[in-house]
Amino acid sequence: MDTQKEEFLKEFGQDYGYPNAPKNIDDIRASEFKRLGDVVYLDHAGATLYSELQMEAIIKDLTTNVYGNPHSQSESSLATSEVVRAARQLVLDYCNASPKDYKCVFTSGATAALKLVGEAFPWRRESSFMYTMENHNSVLGIKEYALNQGAMAFAIDIEELENYSGLPRRDASSIKVSRYSVQRRNEAPVQEAPEGNIYNLFAFPSECNFSGRKFSLDLVKIIKEDSERVLEGPPHNKGCWMVLIDAAKGCTTQPPDLASFPADFVVISFYKIFGYPTGLGALIVHTEAAKLLKKTYFSGGTVAASIPDIDFIKRREGFEESFEDGTQSFLSIASIHHGFRIIHSLTASAIARYVNH
Ligand SMILES: *Cc1c(COP(=O)(O)O)cnc(C)c1O
Repeated sequence: MDTQKEEFLKEFGQDYGYPNAPKNIDDIRASEFKRLGDVVYLDHAGATLYSELQMEAIIKDLTTNVYGNPHSQSESSLATSEVVRAARQLVLDYCNASPKDYKCVFTSGATAALKLVGEAFPWRRESSFMYTMENHNSVLGIKEYALNQGAMAFAIDIEELENYSGLPRRDASSIKVSRYSVQRRNEAPVQEAPEGNIYNLFAFPSECNFSGRKFSLDLVKIIKEDSERVLEGPPHNKGCWMVLIDAAKGCTTQPPDLASFPADFVVISFYKIFGYPTGLGALIVHTEAAKLLKKTYFSGGTVAASIPDIDFIKRREGFEESFEDGTQSFLSIASIHHGFRIIHSLTASAIARYVNH
């Protein structure tokens, strides 16, 4: 074992671990992942391992600060609101998303964030839901909302043409799209003389959790600006295309840069990035796209007032609050500060480099 390691280090020494981190990877493993012993774990894949240092910091935080229910009015409640506000900012920063252009809504995971988009998207009969063949089931499930509203759903395959791969930015002429069969539920209600814009949704993963394929984020602009060229012929290239990136897997090593690739919706999951907490994710939504979303269900947390015996509700005004049903998972949200601290000390780019080798 040891001679094997020596040989490995001779060949890859420069590229082993996180060269710019305060500690080398063997020391990190010995001090922050003691529980591993000699277990071999494929990290930054299905779930990232949380560091023991991270957990100590979380315990210290939760045992020294008083976090009350964010919907109450007290000092402890304000402490929670502040920690949640700062956590939203951390999430936006991680994806290089300006708070002027994007909002961060906490959800119970990437799946719940996808379901929220499906539920609240302005589907109508003329809309299309298009998705790459390589996609998580939680993305495919959005199809049910689209089909139930009479919209169309179809899968595509995207081939990135080789002769363009050297270009810094790809455009519509650098991809070839093949379309698979179109699905439509005929029994879906026909709406009368619909008014207003038609909105379509395109969904793809920044990295496929099954095949590991990474899709070029240039797709965001290609689909939004040049959909007619990409999707020539029927069905549908009418209306406005909104783009959803499923970054649940991609985020573990390469968060999307939303300043360069301004997607409308991005979903992420925190256990994939730093292991703890589970059951917490986020929907990062562009402020313009946010205005189109219509939520059906209301609940504690999303409603300012409701009257049981008449058809009246007043929803909360803040965008994030109007989409977060119930009481936010505020102790989990407080915990992500410590996860991000670990990621920032290693740096996401060093993790990506390490995982690539
Ligand atoms: C893990 C994963 C999901 C689901 O995330 P949850 O937070 O577990 O719901 C969705 N899409 C991709 C690409 C994933 O890797």
